[in-house]
Amino acid sequence: MLEQLKAYFGFDQFLPLQEDIISKVLAKHDSLVLMPTGGGKSLCYQLPAIQFRGLTLVVSPLIALMKDQVDGLKANGVPAGLLNSTLSPDESAEVQDQARRGELKMLYVAPERLTLPGFQRFLRSLEISLIAIDEAHCISEWGHDFRPDYRNLKALREGFPKVPVIALTATATTQVREDIVAQLGLNKPDIFISSFNRPNLTYTIQPKTEPLNTLLNLLDKHPGGSTIIYRFSRKATEETAIELTDRGFSALPYHAGLDRDLRRETQEKFIRDQVQIVVATIAFGMGIDKPDVRLVVHYDLPKTVEGYYQETGRAGRDGLPSDCVLFYSYGDRSKQEYFISNIEDDDERDKAHSKLGQVLTLCDLQTCRRAYLMEYLGEHWPKTDCGGCDICLLPREEFDATEIAQKILSTSIRTGERFGANYLVDVLRGSNNKTVKERGHHDLPVFGISRDMDSNDLKEMVRSLVTNGFLTQQSSGYPTLSVSARGRKFLKDRESLTLTRPKHTALTMPKSLDTLNRETAYDTKLFDELAALRLEIAAQREVPAYQIFGNKALQQMAFHMPVDEQQFSNISGVGYAKLRDFSRPFLKVINEYIQANSQYAEIKRVPITAPKRRTVLGINMSIRETRDLISQGLSMAEAAEERGISETTIRSHLERLVQEGGQVELNHLMPSEERRIKIESAFKEIGEARLTPVRDMLGEDYSWDELAVVRLALRQGQIDD
Ligand code: ADP
Ligand code: ZN
Repeated sequence: MLEQLKAYFGFDQFLPLQEDIISKVLAKHDSLVLMPTGGGKSLCYQLPAIQFRGLTLVVSPLIALMKDQVDGLKANGVPAGLLNSTLSPDESAEVQDQARRGELKMLYVAPERLTLPGFQRFLRSLEISLIAIDEAHCISEWGHDFRPDYRNLKALREGFPKVPVIALTATATTQVREDIVAQLGLNKPDIFISSFNRPNLTYTIQPKTEPLNTLLNLLDKHPGGSTIIYRFSRKATEETAIELTDRGFSALPYHAGLDRDLRRETQEKFIRDQVQIVVATIAFGMGIDKPDVRLVVHYDLPKTVEGYYQETGRAGRDGLPSDCVLFYSYGDRSKQEYFISNIEDDDERDKAHSKLGQVLTLCDLQTCRRAYLMEYLGEHWPKTDCGGCDICLLPREEFDATEIAQKILSTSIRTGERFGANYLVDVLRGSNNKTVKERGHHDLPVFGISRDMDSNDLKEMVRSLVTNGFLTQQSSGYPTLSVSARGRKFLKDRESLTLTRPKHTALTMPKSLDTLNRETAYDTKLFDELAALRLEIAAQREVPAYQIFGNKALQQMAFHMPVDEQQFSNISGVGYAKLRDFSRPFLKVINEYIQANSQYAEIKRVPITAPKRRTVLGINMSIRETRDLISQGLSMAEAAEERGISETTIRSHLERLVQEGGQVELNHLMPSEERRIKIESAFKEIGEARLTPVRDMLGEDYSWDELAVVRLALRQGQIDD
C-alpha cells in the first residue's frame, strides 16, 4: 500500500486512520468514515480504487468538486471520469463507453443520475468493485445539507448487494452518523471517527474596532494568500469587496443573490488563483476544496458554533499554518438578537437563541478556544495550552476596570460623543494635539487624566468597552463613539466593572514562530520562482495551480533543492506521473537557481534523502506472488484476474521487482522479434526513463504492455544491450 501511495500520490506516509480504513475497504467491508475537512478522506477510496480490478463509483453532490477531483486523479496518472449535468450528451456517451471498455478506474456521478432511466442498466453493464458516498451527511435530514437525491442511494446499495460501500463525511454528530448507517443500509460497517481538531489552524477572536484596518493588517500577514471573508448580509459582502478593491486587493463578492454564472465564475477564479479574496455570505464554501486557503475572517458574528467550525475549516486543508479570525462586537450581538426576536415560530426562535448563546460564550471565553470547540463537537480535550488560539498565545488576566471605564465614558460625554477611539485617547493622555486645543478640550477636567497610561493599552480599553456594550460605534461614516444606555447606567449607578486584558509577559509576541519546523525554513525566493512556474503550467493545462503541486511540495523543493530525478522523486506529492510530467521544468529552475546563487544556495541546500520506507512484509509477499504467477506463464491480464488486482498494479510489481534486482520469466510476454528490436532501438535512442516518448515515436500500434515488457527485459539484462 505504501508503494502505491508513493507511486500515485507521491506521499510517504498515511495520515491518521487512512491505513486502517483502506485495509478494511480492501477486505470488502462496509465502512463509515468521519473525518474533519483536510483529514484525507478521498485517499481512503482512491487508493483501493487503483488496487481493485474493476471500477469504483463515487457519488458526490458537489459538481464543481467532481471535476477538480477527476483532474487531480488524472494528473496523478489515475484514469478517472465523471458524469453530471455539465456534460453534453456526446461527452456523457463517451465517458460511458470508456467505463464499459474498462478504461476507467474511477467514475464520479451526481446523485440525481441514479434515477434516470437506463442509468441503472448502464451501471449493471460495468464491473463495479467499490461504491464511495462522499458528503454522506447529505442523506440525513438531521444534517445541515439534506439532499433528497441522496435517498436514491439506498436503491443503489440494494442493486449491488455484494459491492462494499464506503461513506464519508466531515459532520460528526451521532444523530447524523446513525442516520447514514440506517439510510444507506450499510452492513455491519466499521466506523472510523478521527479527531476533529485542526492543529494547523490558529483561532483568534478580537474586538471589532476598526475592522477594516485590522483586516488589512491580516492580509499583510498573508501576502497573496487565498482568503475567505464571511459577512452577514449580501450588501455587506459587496461593500467590503469594494473597500478592498479600492485598496488594491483583488477581491470579489459572493452571495446567493448573484447570477449563477457569475457565482460559478467567481468560484473558478478563486480556485485558479485569479482572485485572492472572496467576500461571501455562508453560501460560499460548500463547493470549495481549495487546499491553500490561508485566512478565513468572520467579519460579523456567525450564527452557530457549528457553522463557525465548518467555515473556519475551509482554511488550511493542505495542513500548512493558517489563520481564522473573528471580529466580535456588542453591536453585532444586538443586531443578531433583534433578528432572532423577529422569528415567528417559537421553537425556531428558541433554537436560534440558544445557538447564538453558544457563539457568545465562545467569544467571551477566557480559556482556550480550541478546547471549547472540541468539547462542543463532543470530543474530550485536555486542558493544556493549545498554542494555537489567541487565549493560549496571549494569556489574559482580569482586572478592576471601574475607574478607567468611568474616565473613558466621561471623556466621551464631555467631548460631545462625536469622536473615535484615537481622539478620546489623545484627550485622556493630555496630548499636544492641535485639534484638541482648537476645540478647547484641553480645558476639560478629563484632559490628561490618564497621562500615565500607554496609548495602546488605553485603546485596548476603549475597544473593550465597545465589545462589552458600554460604548456604541457608529457603523457608517467616520467611526465615532457614543455612550450606550448600558454605559449611562454604569455611570449613574456607580457600578463596578471587571474586564480582562492581555497578560504582560516577557515574551508574548510571535510564539508561533517557535513552532516553525526546519521544513518550513525554505528559500522563499526559490519558492516564488517555483510558484511562478507552477502557475504557468497550470494555466496551460487549464487546471488550478494546486493540482500541479501543493505548497508543501514547493516548500520542500525550495528547502531540499533536489538536482536530479532521483532526488526530485523524494519530494512529498511527487508520484510517478508527476515525476514524468513535471520534473524536468522544475529541476531546470532549481538548478539554474543554485548556479545563479552559488555562494549561498549550496550552503542553504539540505539534500533530501529517501525517507526510510518501512519494509512491509505484505508488499514483498504480494510482489513475489505476482512474480510467481507470471513466471508460471500467465499473461499480465491473467495474473491480474487471478489476483483480483489491476493490470497496472501487476506491472508496477514487476517493475519494482526488477528494480530491486529480482528476476522474472518474461519470454512468453515478449512481442515478436521484429517488434522487439524496433522497441529496443527506440529505448536506446530516447532513453528508457519514460515510456511516453517511446510510444510517441513508435505510434499507437505498439501497446504499453509491450513497451513495458521490453523495458523490463532490458533492465534485468535478459536482452543484450
Ligand atoms: P478531505 O476530503 O478529508 O477534506 P482530502 O482528501 O481533500 O481531505 O485531503 C486533504 C489534503 O491532504 C489534500 O491536499 C491531500 O492531497 C492531502 N493528503 C491526503 N493524504 C495524504 C497523505 N497520506 N500524506 C500527505 N498528504 C495527504
Ligand atoms: Zn488554545
